[in-house]
This record gives sequence, C-alpha cells and structure tokens, in this order.
Amino acid sequence: MAPRPLTFITITAAAALAASYACASSLDKAALSADELLLSRKSASPATPAPAPAAETASGIAYADICGADPAALSEARDKRRSANLKALEPEIRPGFQAVVKKYGLPDLQSGDFINSALNSVSYTFPYQIEKSKGALAEFAEVIEAAVLNKMPMPDYGRIKAALIARIKSSGLEIPVKAELVNRVELTSLILPSQYIRKYITSSEELWPVIPQLVADQAWNASYEDLGGAGNPELRPNQSVIIVYPGILLAEMRGDGAPARLDFVLLHETAHSIDSGRFPSLYAGYAGCLKSAYGQSFKNWDEVLADYWAVSALPAFMPRSGGLDYLGKSYELICGTEGEAGSLLVAITSADHPSAKYRVENILGRDPGVAKVLGGQPAAVCGI
Ligand SMILES: [Zn+2]
Repeated sequence: MAPRPLTFITITAAAALAASYACASSLDKAALSADELLLSRKSASPATPAPAPAAETASGIAYADICGADPAALSEARDKRRSANLKALEPEIRPGFQAVVKKYGLPDLQSGDFINSALNSVSYTFPYQIEKSKGALAEFAEVIEAAVLNKMPMPDYGRIKAALIARIKSSGLEIPVKAELVNRVELTSLILPSQYIRKYITSSEELWPVIPQLVADQAWNASYEDLGGAGNPELRPNQSVIIVYPGILLAEMRGDGAPARLDFVLLHETAHSIDSGRFPSLYAGYAGCLKSAYGQSFKNWDEVLADYWAVSALPAFMPRSGGLDYLGKSYELICGTEGEAGSLLVAITSADHPSAKYRVENILGRDPGVAKVLGGQPAAVCGI
C-alpha cells in the first residue's frame, strides 16, 4: 500500500515503512465477509441524498475560516511550537535518558540536542538484538511521554469512543451494520508509543521506522492486520490501536494553558477502524454522491470516510461559543495540506487523497450538526 502523506501523520522518507500502515487501513480481510453482508443489505439501507444542484453546494464554512489566510504559515508555526516545547523539556528529559544510556551501555549523551542522537544510537548499538533494542527504545519513549504528559494530559479517550458510538447508533444504518461498526470502535484502544513498542512490535523492520516518529506531530491507527494479525498473540481479530505520539501533544501546548484540541484527530483516527478499507461497499453510495457533487474522486476514500464520522461526532465536543476557533485548532494539523484537488489530471484520474480545503469545505462544512452549533443551517449534500 502506498504511503498517504496527507493524513494526520507526518511522513518522512525514513518512515516510509511505518507510513505504509499509518493513519490508514489496509484491506481488512476479516472484514470482507461482513462487508458482503453489508452489500447484501444495501438495498434496504437509507437512500443517499441526491446531489444538490451546483449552486447550492457551497460550503457553510470557507477554508480560510478554519485555516486562515496562510495555511502553510499556520502549520509552520505549529511545528516551531512543537520544537520549542520539546526544547523546553530537555532538562527534564535528560536525566531519564542518562539512566537508560547507563543501563544499556549506549554511547554517552551529546551536549545540546541529544534526543534524536540517543534514540538513533539504539539501532546501531543493537542492530540484531530485537528485545534489547525494543527495551531501550521503549524506556526512552517512556521518559519523553512522562515529561510531555506532565504538561499536556491526554484527552479522555472514553469520551471520544462514546461519542463515535452514539453517532453510529443514531445513523440510519441497519441494526446488524451498526453492531458491526460499534464492535470495531469498541475494540479500538489508545496507546502511547512505549506500549506500541513493547506490546506490538516484533521485528527490527517495524522498530526502526518508529525512531524518527517518537517526537513527531502525529497519531496512527494500526489494525490487527497491520500489526501482524494472528501472528501477534496480543491481538484480537478486528482490533485496532491508536498510537498517539508525544509530538502531537507538544504541538498542542500553546502557552496559554488551553486544553489540547485533539477531539477531531482522535475521532478521525478511531473512525479509520470503520473506514472504507474495512467496509468498501457500505460507503459506495456516499462516495458516489460526493463524486457527483464535487467532481472529484479518490483512489482511496479512507480519509474522507474517517473525516465524515469524525465531524459528525464532533458537535458533542464543540463549545457553544467560539466554535470556529475550536475548529481552527482542531484542524491545525492538516491545514496547508494540498492533496491533488487543483490538478488538471483529477478530471481523468483519481487523486490519492483529499486536500485540506476539500476536507474543510466539503466534509466539515457540510455537516448539519457542526453547522447547527455554529448557528448556521447548510444542508448535507451527501450522507451515510
Ligand atoms: Zn486518516
């Protein structure tokens, strides 16, 4: 599966391997029979609304409302904030790193920026000792996690799952379909990278790509299949884990003590457990409707579907006033991502993934619940 960089993850060349399953799902073989069930029931599913005439498809939210006049500058500022916040925690992180270095006999910490060099030293000190390298990296990760979580607590994931489950239950889908989707969400859990390393990584090929990601601004959804399926004794079929990297929390420290705005990100990641990779036929009508309404198709609709479920559950978290500011912070991570929406080729081929503008205006901006909280009433163009 090709990397899909315009998701919530930050992908670097070194992370290409990890990126193959980051923030996305592979085709879930275990889901095929369930999906066939869904297909067989499709005729009884609620009809997808017909696309509105073009003149009526204008979004209730403009891209600039959420990402500002210069979205690239916004993401640059976010990255600077993440780096500065990490730098400020270095004195707190250093003694913990020193203890790990001593325990494992790793090269002495450098002066100045020691974090990345210490993490990388594990790969060349223990290139063939998977248990030892896992142990050292997990302990380094724990030191970073403790320092970051001390300043920016993790949002309540139970609330995130409950909101998504409530949204699935209130949908027009058939009861057995709802039950299947709810089950997938219930089997999704949130973990930190130290837990991911200890519990789910079984090879160096999986471990090394994690090193440059430990302080990156990202979260991943990794499914049962992504994590080795039946070969991994820690997993149950249909289970997924959301890995929240400390960098995403560092980026959320805005200096004014405001809480993290990760509801949307975590809803989106959780919704990957029920996206079109798992249930392609369930969403075929919705994808077709969007294609007709906006004239754009995607090679993979996972990101659109994850956004659809996330924004439809988001009103449970939105403040009754200051909604646009809340949404701006919620979307900050993807602002400026281009996708291929402007490409001439879009007319004859399918884009890999949606741009931030598409995601803001055509998914977020068309959600009736979000519009209601903001005090507007745009009609949904397409729905599930
Ligand atoms: Zn995604």
